[in-house]
Amino acid sequence: MTLGQNFLLLLGLLLSSQVLAWGEKGHRTVALIAYQQLNAQTQARVDALLAHKGFADIGDASVWPDKVREQKLPEYAHTGPWHYVNLPRGSNGFDMQRDCSRPCIVSALAQMLEQLSSHSPDAQAEALAFVVHLVGDLHQPLHVSFADDRGGNDRKVMFDEEPVSLHYYWDSLVLKSLPQSDLLAAQLLDALSTEQRQSWLSADVNQWLAESYAITASLYQTNPAVIDPVANQHYQQQAKQRIVQAGLRLASLLNKYLPE
Ligand SMILES: [Zn+2]
Repeated sequence: MTLGQNFLLLLGLLLSSQVLAWGEKGHRTVALIAYQQLNAQTQARVDALLAHKGFADIGDASVWPDKVREQKLPEYAHTGPWHYVNLPRGSNGFDMQRDCSRPCIVSALAQMLEQLSSHSPDAQAEALAFVVHLVGDLHQPLHVSFADDRGGNDRKVMFDEEPVSLHYYWDSLVLKSLPQSDLLAAQLLDALSTEQRQSWLSADVNQWLAESYAITASLYQTNPAVIDPVANQHYQQQAKQRIVQAGLRLASLLNKYLPE
């Protein structure tokens, strides 16, 4: 293989890792929205923990839990099921005993919120990254989904004339035509009304999950084989709303749970 081929291969790998899992854009936007909504004291604590762990910013921390999973690091093998929860087909909603008897996103988030108070700065910094990430995942509809097609990973839809998995569409492709995360975060915050902020902040974790599940259930009800531009526009609106909801709610959790 020539140097040029090596370079192209490397470039290809870099580009494909950028579009991996919510994809980076989604997670980073959630994290940036949250960061801007933190009180000064919490923001300083977050900065200190990010620096401790060597994260460049909160966006970097937000994608770290997917990175350690993709790298299949043995010490994080147990965190695989933390990113989602599966419900039985046709179920009315989440049942902690039935759906989270083994670790799921709900128990993982509770555990990581508790770990924010750990005496070890390392454990605290990792808990911070997981909390930032998991609140994002919980708002991605297909992370509250069904086991039989692995949260839409095994379900193909046509988008932009390509067959893609429904899960991947919702993780990444739905946000593809939107600006980069810093600009997107600013736009979403700008468009936010006081009423939306109040009503979204009054919801608890169970409601966040129920909202995701409602979108998932409606996706499977309409069961689209092709996501045309009109459908894409509709899903993009939903995705933007999920991201800003996640960002606001994440800030409120961190303001509450991150000790001085
Ligand atoms: Zn994830």
